[in-house]
Amino acid sequence: MQYRTVPKNGDALSALGFGAMRLPTRFGRIDEARAVRQLRSAIDSGVNYLDTAYPYHNGESEKVLGKALRDGYRERVKIADKLPHWQIKSREDMDRILDLQLRRLQTDRIDYYLLHSLDAKSWKKLAGLDVFGFLEAARDAGKIGNLGFSFHGDRKTFREIVDAYDWTFCQIQYNFLDEENQAGREGLEYAASKDIAVIVMEPLRGGMLAAGLPKDVQEVYDASGSARSPAEWALRWIWDHPEVTVVLSGMNDEAHIAENIRTCEDALPGCLSDAERAVVDAAAASYKSRIRVNCTGCAYCMPCPFGVNIPQCFHFYNQYHMGGSRMLTRGFYIAQVIGFDDHPANASLCRSCGKCVRACPQGIAIPDELQKVSRDLDGFSTKLMKPLVKMLMTRRQKE
Ligand code: SF4
Ligand code: SF4
Repeated sequence: MQYRTVPKNGDALSALGFGAMRLPTRFGRIDEARAVRQLRSAIDSGVNYLDTAYPYHNGESEKVLGKALRDGYRERVKIADKLPHWQIKSREDMDRILDLQLRRLQTDRIDYYLLHSLDAKSWKKLAGLDVFGFLEAARDAGKIGNLGFSFHGDRKTFREIVDAYDWTFCQIQYNFLDEENQAGREGLEYAASKDIAVIVMEPLRGGMLAAGLPKDVQEVYDASGSARSPAEWALRWIWDHPEVTVVLSGMNDEAHIAENIRTCEDALPGCLSDAERAVVDAAAASYKSRIRVNCTGCAYCMPCPFGVNIPQCFHFYNQYHMGGSRMLTRGFYIAQVIGFDDHPANASLCRSCGKCVRACPQGIAIPDELQKVSRDLDGFSTKLMKPLVKMLMTRRQKE
């Protein structure tokens, strides 16, 4: 196993982390015996960073992790878990949820604790609820160790959050299609420049970079003459970055786990040759040829006076047309753009005032493009799906 060092505490973390958000299931529930076998086998192979969160598998992920870490496995790993801002209305909620997480995990300490899925709105909300008071009190009490956050917002907000606290680590979405999206390469480099360890999530973009590839992307890999799988190409591309500490993979298949562990062994920083980087660049170009709006996510157009989250609308619209599961994309659009509070940010809210157009360096006809986003993502199917997504995101979980 390859290990990379967390700059602020010296921890040697396995460059491959086990993401427990897509554990193997059977009849709609986690196949516990199989999940425990997979987690322990990965730990036996050197994986020492396990990532879970309050909503994963509706709370069952934390519990299964707790079971997997009995029999001496707990001492061999670092657990990462997250505070779900959408479940928080007060400081008391933070304490209650953390205590529940500790009970589910059967541990008295979560080594790496994150504010889950921050963007501009949730960041402002948590900061207003004394989240730093909570984090520091929980750390002083020994309930949590290192402090961090996971992120799905725009680059400007990412910098703001990085600068707001002495974080040990952060978690960003990063892969060869997301260099210009969300925190992006700029965010990765900025966090690393501040000695913040960077944990990468969605290295395979929910699986779309590993399976069900468009024909022209597969042809790029075939023409390279290499026997590497698409997943291996995508993972190596990330590990090639010296700024990356851990790459999380949401694993549930024994063959994939073994392949990822094998790949990780020698995928050191700088592992790709120029020719190999060109192969990935060509695959990325093929995917990007399907992109509908050339938005770089810079957020210069923000804020919109009518509340539209313009870069996020374009991100999900492009994702919708690039391959992968459209239902999943719609679900993320509902959760992250429409939301469930009084501040939706979806495309249909655009009133064509034109303010954003003047600010966009890409010259995008934003109101016209938002109409197309609205047509594809704000329609009847979205209205039908919203209650289901809300139930999955917000239902109060059993202990
Ligand atoms: S044109 Fe639409 S998206 Fe742009 S600022 Fe005006 S209302 Fe917002
Ligand atoms: S629409 Fe233009 S200004 Fe707004 S995030 Fe995209 S590229 Fe930047």
